[in-house]
Amino acid sequence: MYEGVIIEKLFTKDLRFPTSLNSDGSDAMHTHPDYSCAYVILETNTGQKAHGMTFTLGRGTEVVICAIKALENLIIGQKVQDIYNNFGDFWRKLTSDNQLRWIGPEKGVMHLATAAIVNALWDLWARLEGKPVWKLLVDMSPEQLTSVIDFRYITDVITKDEAIKILKEKEDNKKAREFDLIKNGYPAYTTQVGWLGYSSEKVKSLCKKYLDQGFTAFKVKVGQNLDEDKKRCAMVRENIGSSNVLMVDANQVWCVDEAIDWMKSLAEYKPLWIEEPTSPDDILGHAKIAQALKQYGIGVATGEMCCNRVMFKQFLQAGALEFCQIDSARVGGINEILSIYLMAEKLKVKVCPHAGGVGLCEMVQHLQFWDYVSLSGTKEGKYIEYVDQQHEHFKTPVVIKSAAYMPPTDPGYSSEMFPSTMEKYEFPKGTYWQELANNK
Ligand SMILES: [Mg+2]
Repeated sequence: MYEGVIIEKLFTKDLRFPTSLNSDGSDAMHTHPDYSCAYVILETNTGQKAHGMTFTLGRGTEVVICAIKALENLIIGQKVQDIYNNFGDFWRKLTSDNQLRWIGPEKGVMHLATAAIVNALWDLWARLEGKPVWKLLVDMSPEQLTSVIDFRYITDVITKDEAIKILKEKEDNKKAREFDLIKNGYPAYTTQVGWLGYSSEKVKSLCKKYLDQGFTAFKVKVGQNLDEDKKRCAMVRENIGSSNVLMVDANQVWCVDEAIDWMKSLAEYKPLWIEEPTSPDDILGHAKIAQALKQYGIGVATGEMCCNRVMFKQFLQAGALEFCQIDSARVGGINEILSIYLMAEKLKVKVCPHAGGVGLCEMVQHLQFWDYVSLSGTKEGKYIEYVDQQHEHFKTPVVIKSAAYMPPTDPGYSSEMFPSTMEKYEFPKGTYWQELANNK
């Protein structure tokens, strides 16, 4: 179908937005983030362009760009038909270069670079098919869908045959769910009310703003000071009422036992989950926290910095998370994320994606839509994170109606930014950064 279409060029952009100026995105671990991304543009010999990215916090984006460039020769000159006919095999090639693999493998900067490229490849595929990514995924047969996944290292939890069987069992009501999705969208929760650097007045007014918009679930950052956390949680709880949902997020600041003690002190505010209580690598630590907090009705949520499907597999096996927070710009892009959804479905863990940042809402909605229509078949007790920032840079930004993500119809992965954004925010040569340097 794409006979003769070859990927001819790969461009990268280091894009940084000065979000630290207003404490937007601030949490206990990342006090002054400049929301940024390592951005990839692919161009084919037919002139088709595609866009992908991975999210970063400012400094270090240049390191990810360097890693993307190191992978470039595995992409340039490839026939797109060869990639999409055997996408699982191609994904393995991309992550298995026999020299580059040493500086991963499948983790850290190399895997962020992989995600940026793979996201662009999915944007390209969806554009060639004339569909949004969620619809491209929904329309795939179970056999096609599983052909994009590298099952190496996870067959002790799920094999390709089992994945096909699970997907086939869910085929009956797909049309009805797709119809429901288009009509009603998918529930969102907001993190906008509780960035750690925000004043009490700002938090209060934001609670009102998002309640008025129909939001019923609100997340607050915690972990720097227990007394302050108590005040903030009490205030948010008072403002959102007892029937709405409160989540809290510590962004990895605690040791395991400290996390348990701290959360016992916040239990009276009835949080649904504690997110990233400790190191994102500590599977058994998370399991201990989950076990200890069960009696308080607090679940453990994590995943936004979980580096690959093997780690997710162990988190799921160990009962270390109740809410699995896949991230569209981490692990090795969509191919690997699909394998995590399949494992979560098999082990009956809810997936509530991480979003916000730059382009994360735009991309991850597609995956959760697919999960609802084709895999889990339910939205019950699940939400996609929503942060109302950086959407203005995207050609097809997310659409939120009555606190629900509405599925996009434009072809692609919703990941294309305006050229004017790139001219202004490319680091360090964009006009914004040049002006800042000249005024110092
Ligand atoms: Mg978080």
